[in-house]
Amino acid sequence: MKPFKLVINGSLVETSEYFDVLNPADKSVVARCPKATEADLNNAVAAANTAFESWSALDISERRELLLKLADVVEDKAEEFKTLLTKEQGKPLQGFANLGAGFEFEGTLNWIRTTANFDIKPKIIEDNDTVRIELHRKPLGVVGSITPWNYPLLISIWHIIPALLAGNTVVMKPSEMTPLTMLRFGEVAQEILPPGVLNIVTGAGELGALISSHEDIQKIVFTGSTPTGKAIMKSASGNLKRLTLELGGNDAGIVLDDVNVDDIAEKIFASAFINNGQTCAALKRLYVHESVYDEMCNALTKIATSMKNGNGMDKDTDLGPLQNEQQLNIVKELAEDAKQRGATFLCGGEVVDEKGYFYPPTLVSNIEDGAKLVDIEQFGPILPIIKFHDVEDAIASANRLGVGLGGSVWSQDLIKAQRVASRMQCGTVWINSHAAVLPIAPFGGVKDSGFGVEFGEEGLNEYTSVHTIHIYK
Ligand code: ADP
Repeated sequence: MKPFKLVINGSLVETSEYFDVLNPADKSVVARCPKATEADLNNAVAAANTAFESWSALDISERRELLLKLADVVEDKAEEFKTLLTKEQGKPLQGFANLGAGFEFEGTLNWIRTTANFDIKPKIIEDNDTVRIELHRKPLGVVGSITPWNYPLLISIWHIIPALLAGNTVVMKPSEMTPLTMLRFGEVAQEILPPGVLNIVTGAGELGALISSHEDIQKIVFTGSTPTGKAIMKSASGNLKRLTLELGGNDAGIVLDDVNVDDIAEKIFASAFINNGQTCAALKRLYVHESVYDEMCNALTKIATSMKNGNGMDKDTDLGPLQNEQQLNIVKELAEDAKQRGATFLCGGEVVDEKGYFYPPTLVSNIEDGAKLVDIEQFGPILPIIKFHDVEDAIASANRLGVGLGGSVWSQDLIKAQRVASRMQCGTVWINSHAAVLPIAPFGGVKDSGFGVEFGEEGLNEYTSVHTIHIYK
């Protein structure tokens, strides 16, 4: 495999230090990754600042055209991107319900194309005999993007494409756990984008901290944990950076008494185990009405025990490993606490394969609020199923934690479901679905899940500042 390099000002840049990127399926080294220094970062920011002048001066239609071309050249390299994603992230190439690397890659293309086709138009606020007031939107300058390891390609695209379409330039840092896909993406993008418009630097949290405090960066868009989001908010204050923070959640799903379990079990399973549970807006706590509780537990257990856990490169693998040891340890610790509390493990719960960071799909019943597995985001393949009698209690349970990213209500009665959904304290609520984010629908959290939204017109606007013009006639 070719050595990976930083992407700065249209060039591939070597570094003096490197670190290893491991394949979570067998702990082998996928490749060495360049470790950017502060000087590398400064070069990237300077290049982005220089490129901003001409990039922001283009008409949005010209930027759109380049971004659409970018989607095409990335699409031509589909197999290479999917394989690299599987090797560094662990997700299966295909996976159960086709939710593996192919899903992330197709989502990436869809997101680039849909977002690139958005528009930013002036809005007329008032136009009378004496005055016309227009609201224009201007790009901010250099946007710093910091991303996590669960969807290395897709989440980076969520940040980069609206930023670029709006006329900003970007310095992005992927997670040190999964940096390779974005280094390759950045390299490919140089065929299309002018130098300095998109720069990729790689390194760990220290580099992220340098980005978030950099005086020549105007905005940070961050997806990751709540503690890191809070650290970024502090260090971004020096030059009052704009922020979009999409942080952790612990999404509740509420299953009402009128559901047809057979109709929804697979969907619920997929909502919880998508990407092995390592998804910000996956269903992480399932509250089920007592009248359908046993039936739901049985249906989910049947699905979970049919899953094949293995190396994502194998065609028949349904679920791969967790991405890293730290996350595996969190899952083990939450499971251990549940065992000590006497919860029932319907399936899974024991590590059987130690070649990689594997944990089997695990369902836990006979568990309540207050257990660590319910109260702390597991971000892994283990789902607590909690029984409720009164829907008021389920709503209170859903809302009792300090986070609020997503939530869901499952029912055949859409009016009743919407009444419950409207009371859930979260940025997005789904009825008879969960975790299904779309490029046209704004998505973001409340409480400790962050602020600001991504996607749709509202998401695009976050990469602009308002410029109001009053014209007295
Ligand atoms: P996780 O613990 O799941 O890896 P993090 O929120 O720590 O989640 O990491 C998400 C991203 O934030 C990664 O790219 C990581 O390198 C980066 N990061 C970690 N610490 C900091 C920090 N103090 N400032 C900015 N970025 C950081």
